[in-house]
Amino acid sequence: IFRRAVYLDSIHNLSQLPPDQGVEVAIAGRSNAGKSSLINRLCGHNSLARTSKTPGRTRQLVFFQLDPNRHLVDLPGYGYAKVAGDLKRHWRGLIQTYLERRKSLVGIVVVMDIRHPLKDSDIELIEWAGSRGLALHLVLTKADKLGRGKQSETLMQIGRKVDPRVGVQAFSATSGQGLDALQQQLADWLGL
Ligand code: GDP
Repeated sequence: IFRRAVYLDSIHNLSQLPPDQGVEVAIAGRSNAGKSSLINRLCGHNSLARTSKTPGRTRQLVFFQLDPNRHLVDLPGYGYAKVAGDLKRHWRGLIQTYLERRKSLVGIVVVMDIRHPLKDSDIELIEWAGSRGLALHLVLTKADKLGRGKQSETLMQIGRKVDPRVGVQAFSATSGQGLDALQQQLADWLGL
């Protein structure tokens, strides 16, 4: 089903949201963490996430449709130091309101570079989402950049820091490592 993903819409204002029906999973991460590459790999597509990269994309929520009742939502990258204060506030306002109000949202995938996980902005999102009872799955991407020993060490360290209900996995858009685990988590959330 992930291969059937198609670009649906980009929105920069909550009034443009598609109808709040069916189920959807949001994908979040710091800028450059590897979120677009993960979405492209997940959907077996070279340019799905990228085709939607337009100027101003930093403030957009990009909707992909798997079927009429199931969506993936690419949230704007956060934690980019050069982003001005106003835009940060806009990001927070837009994203927080979306995450708080969206009834069809069943889980959030947080994408982090396995070499630089749990930056302040990640922790902020994880704690905030956790305190609102939103289901979380942490994906440590670019795993191909580390050996297996270092990967498991990082996974264990993170596992100790987050709530035991939060899933944590390694992933690589380059090698495909962890793709099955990610698809399984999403299938579970999306009722597939
Ligand atoms: P985004 O800003 O979070 O959407 O990040 P991108 O997907 O554009 O990736 C940022 C950079 O990291 C790009 O140069 C990618 O080629 C690279 N990258 C992303 N995922 C991986 C991965 O799994 N392995 C490796 N080696 N590089 C990756």
